[in-house]
Amino acid sequence: MTMRTLDGREFDLTQDALNGLKARLRGPVLLPADAGYDESRTVWNAMIDRKPGLVVRCLGAGDVIAAVQFARANDLLLCIKGGGHNIAGLATADGALLLDMSLMRGVWVDRQRAIAHAQAGCLLGDVDRETQLHGLATVLGFVSATGIAGLTLGGGFGYLTRRWGWTSDNVAGMDVVTSEARLVRASADENADLFWGLRGGGGNFGVVTGIDYALHPVGPEVVGGVVAWPASEASRVLELYRTMAAEAPPELTLVALMRNAPPAPWLPKDMHGKPIVAVLACYSGTQEDGEKVVAPIKAFGKPIGDVLVRRPYAQMQTLLDATQPKGRRYYWKSEYLPSIEPALCEKVMAHAATIRSPHSAVVLFQIDGALNRLDEAHSPVGNRDARYVLNITGAWDQAADDGANIEWTRQAWTDMKAFSTGGNYINFQTEDESPQRIEAALGKGLARLAQVKAKWDSQNMFRTNRNVTPV
Ligand SMILES: Cc1cc2nc3c(=O)[nH]c(=O)nc-3n(C[C@H](O)[C@H](O)[C@H](O)COP(=O)(O)OP(=O)(O)OC[C@H]3O[C@@H](n4cnc5c(N)ncnc54)[C@H](O)[C@@H]3O)c2cc1C
Repeated sequence: MTMRTLDGREFDLTQDALNGLKARLRGPVLLPADAGYDESRTVWNAMIDRKPGLVVRCLGAGDVIAAVQFARANDLLLCIKGGGHNIAGLATADGALLLDMSLMRGVWVDRQRAIAHAQAGCLLGDVDRETQLHGLATVLGFVSATGIAGLTLGGGFGYLTRRWGWTSDNVAGMDVVTSEARLVRASADENADLFWGLRGGGGNFGVVTGIDYALHPVGPEVVGGVVAWPASEASRVLELYRTMAAEAPPELTLVALMRNAPPAPWLPKDMHGKPIVAVLACYSGTQEDGEKVVAPIKAFGKPIGDVLVRRPYAQMQTLLDATQPKGRRYYWKSEYLPSIEPALCEKVMAHAATIRSPHSAVVLFQIDGALNRLDEAHSPVGNRDARYVLNITGAWDQAADDGANIEWTRQAWTDMKAFSTGGNYINFQTEDESPQRIEAALGKGLARLAQVKAKWDSQNMFRTNRNVTPV
């Protein structure tokens, strides 16, 4: 079978070599003709359609080591798939050996130490499910099918970010298979340089096999959900969002969004497909306090739908899942914002009014608080001046509509990027980002990342990512 080498040459892998690999693995190996190959190779964003040469479905660190040794010995291009949610499709590459981590989904909670150990193939929902059994949680993102590995390695934010920072700020340690196929520990006490690089530097340094997260008391019930109004109310609702978010206690996270109403049962049928504005809220302190804090949102104007109620935190973490299914075509542009300005709200409304697809949205996430209090040099995720995230999410069904939807997304982004801190979220980047945008995302950490890369992966074996050149 034909594979690709690290420097892009074609390489014929013999049956003997393949048999040798299989003999060293517990997990299955899949070739393009095998059942399951397509499931392993496909990612969330249907714009990405790549065909790796072979897939190793790892069952443990031993399989990862065997696969890395094999890739090294044959000079093969290697890629690593966690949850496959990366918008740019960084988990997969044509002709590569793909390490599919999705069989490694164990989670162990140490209640006494308030630490969860999660295998690197976990999705966010796996970790929330197990930690919530103990009334604990770590900072994870808004859609439960996202992979923990990619999210954490690139930073990570969600409803708990205002209290406890980026997801990567909550990592106590990681287990990593290096480019030399050694299993090492990265923590504050062991291989501290590697530990630093892994908290924002992406998959540049090795294959992460497990992550230890610090846990915090959360739930099991929170006050959370969405309130929606017709887009004609957007000016007043966005002003409410702006002023409430500026004063919000850290337990409260507010998200504002504009889109066409999805066919959700909590929205009146005659509003489906019509432009709406919505505020998504999650209060992770006591329910009594939460109900008081979100009362102004529920009482505002005449909402067309209101599901902002007491609910399990684990359910809150899945609330947006149905809006982001695997298999649509997606193109996003994002910027970090220092504040929400009235002039930005005007632009949000203007661009929402020209949306080209029923699935697209303009979204403002609130993230300020704990992450702003750490030093920029704490870890390469950086962006410690970010207080909000603007995300323009183009999403549609047909390839024929690619041009119109990409154009809408880019126009909105071009018009709004003047409000940016100058930084953007590396995990929201698309396939076509310029080197300048990657530099802007990694900011001041880039030079130090290059040194860590040189120490741990001097040959740049791990290159199917936002790649840092070793120096
Ligand atoms: C619908 C949706 C919602 C999202 N919501 C949020 C959110 O709320 N908050 C947030 O912060 N982000 C969010 N994101 C962005 C998300 O963080 C990134 O897409 C992230 O890359 C997803 O991780 P993954 O493991 O699923 O990615 P994958 O596509 O599997 O991998 C992404 C990158 O990580 C590398 N990688 C994966 N596993 C490993 C490993 N074990 N070792 C080393 N490298 C590895 C891959 O090689 C690749 O370079 C969202 C994305 C989507 C599509």
